[in-house]
Amino acid sequence: MHFFFDFDSTLYAKESLDEVLISSLSSAKAREVMAKKLADICSLGMAGKMDIINSIKERLSLVKLNRIHISNYIKKNKKLQAPVLVLLKSLLKQGHDVFVISNGFKELILPMCVRAGISADNVIANSFSFTKNGVAVIYKKNMPLLAGKGQTIKSIKRVKKLTQTTFMIGDSITDAKAKIKGGADFFIGWDIYIKRPQISNIADATVSRIADFEREVNFLENTKTSR
Ligand SMILES: [Mg+2]
Repeated sequence: MHFFFDFDSTLYAKESLDEVLISSLSSAKAREVMAKKLADICSLGMAGKMDIINSIKERLSLVKLNRIHISNYIKKNKKLQAPVLVLLKSLLKQGHDVFVISNGFKELILPMCVRAGISADNVIANSFSFTKNGVAVIYKKNMPLLAGKGQTIKSIKRVKKLTQTTFMIGDSITDAKAKIKGGADFFIGWDIYIKRPQISNIADATVSRIADFEREVNFLENTKTSR
């Protein structure tokens, strides 16, 4: 089987870009104000009122994020939580393909993915560019998911000749669309870190305990073969 996991609020408990932006500020008050602004931007995205590129641009405009903030962040955030690591290890041991497909940034997430045993080639995410002063900026050419997760999964399956049942697992509407756009056979809502009823309503299955994940997968796989 082929598993495409979202990263932020799915494999990882939090939102990595928001976290690095908040951690770059030194005063508690400034961090609190930033958290509120980021939550507002997130709500606009969830309500479909702001697309990914504008959401990222808006967030990066709030603070001048530089290489030092990023290296401090990855020093502090080395590992995914133990139950997630156990699940990934189990899937990989069974010979399944595990991908990470994220609108986050490789500079923040790749070390954690690789430590969890996922091949670096299987991590599809944005990359920052840096100005001569070391400030992080984004260019469309470094954003591989602008066509949407569904379209991206479709292309990966074609190029890598992946023909088995494909699952997209995530917490948000951009993940659910991976199925709507015909990339994945099934969408599993990840209800572990953030509960979003609008996602559970359209998911083929919703997982609220990691221990239930493989059971739900096998159930869905059987519904496919018996169709
Ligand atoms: Mg997410």
